[in-house]
Amino acid sequence: MTTRRHIAIAGAGIGGLTAALALAARGMSVTVCERAPQLSEVGAGLQLAANATGILRRLGLLDTIAARAVVPESLEVHSVASSGAPLVTMPIGDGFARRYGAPYLVVHRADLQRALLDAVNANPAIKLHLDTPVTDVETLAEGVRLVLSLTETLTADGLVGADGVRSAVRSKVLAGAPALYSGNTAYRATIPAAETPPEIRNKIGLWMSEKAHLVHYPLRGGEEINLVAVVRDPWVGEGWSHPAERAEVIARLAEWPEPAASLISAPSQWVKWALCGTSPDFTWTRDRVTLLGDACHPTLPFLAQGAAMSIEDAWVLAGELAKPVSVPAAFKAYEQARKARVVRILGEGARNGKVYHLGGIAAHARDLGLKLLGPDRLASRYDWLWSWQPAAA
Ligand SMILES: Cc1cc2nc3c(=O)[nH]c(=O)nc-3n(C[C@H](O)[C@H](O)[C@H](O)COP(=O)(O)OP(=O)(O)OC[C@H]3O[C@@H](n4cnc5c(N)ncnc54)[C@H](O)[C@@H]3O)c2cc1C
Repeated sequence: MTTRRHIAIAGAGIGGLTAALALAARGMSVTVCERAPQLSEVGAGLQLAANATGILRRLGLLDTIAARAVVPESLEVHSVASSGAPLVTMPIGDGFARRYGAPYLVVHRADLQRALLDAVNANPAIKLHLDTPVTDVETLAEGVRLVLSLTETLTADGLVGADGVRSAVRSKVLAGAPALYSGNTAYRATIPAAETPPEIRNKIGLWMSEKAHLVHYPLRGGEEINLVAVVRDPWVGEGWSHPAERAEVIARLAEWPEPAASLISAPSQWVKWALCGTSPDFTWTRDRVTLLGDACHPTLPFLAQGAAMSIEDAWVLAGELAKPVSVPAAFKAYEQARKARVVRILGEGARNGKVYHLGGIAAHARDLGLKLLGPDRLASRYDWLWSWQPAAA
């Protein structure tokens, strides 16, 4: 490569910021355009398994992120239909890092975004423009022109649409279907760990029930507990933080066994967001424009891999763009390298969603199956997911 490539990115979410750092690490210059006037402390917990944390280590950020995260000791699976006793407890802890080469972390989205943002701001090869939505894109003979406002444009060698579930780049340039409401709403809250039963504090807990499930895990060095309750719901709204009343949540998760019942009734305030998805099975790339993260594969959080997939995408994309090939060829190769894996992850997540919400005899059969499966074989089922490594450093 004789001249330094200049890549524009729409969106400074987890995927966009990681892509900026990965591209800069490969010697490219990057401009990130973010619609929001500031990157505020929105969101709550994210789970990051070894397939994501291994990349954060390559970017030199793992220690910073791990300092505000928690390595949970185990994943404990419960079923309301089977009175709530643990069906299977899969150890995580340090053994996970030994087995998969990098740790399993649970982290506040704001802490992850802050670590990525600080690294972006410290990198002279990256320019970040806030309050700068990408509203349209024109393809030029040798590049792309981003339309940022009535008077402002920006040219680059290529554009990466990392602009999230309602991606403007996807709808303007690529024929991706709009994300549709999945019929599930996620209610979120964080509570001080000191207000929760000690036995749950260092674990990921999954509670399955017909038409609803609850996930809890520690955040911020163990000071907080993150709660996410996913329920079947006709409500549809945009955004991540619609206020929800405590009574609304309690009514939807009534008569659950302890300690789930105490956790559900602990927060005085919840927020909710409508979970949307779309099939990733469309062409993500046109000439010098491609998509990344939720923009091309918005996912339901039933395998806890949304952020991880965007981190994987970012690293693979940078590797392809660093090769001595044209930008369109690199974007095509990136799409080809990623699609089968994200389709598999989305399929596995959708399957989990169905299994979590089984009722009646099917729920009892599932519970028995999980007991018989045991922790080792439960972990082995995800070897393909967690042991993923990018092809070359
Ligand atoms: C505010 C927020 C809170 C979240 N909270 C959680 C959570 O608590 N738990 C969880 O599991 N997942 C959460 N997520 C989702 C999770 O972060 C993503 O699924 C995952 O990290 C994939 O990230 P992404 O970079 O592809 O998309 P996102 O993280 O959604 O980032 C997309 C970015 O693009 C920006 N953008 C949108 N349109 C444009 C445009 N036209 N031009 C320029 N910029 C644009 C958005 O403002 C946003 O910053 C949240 C996402 C957001 C945006």
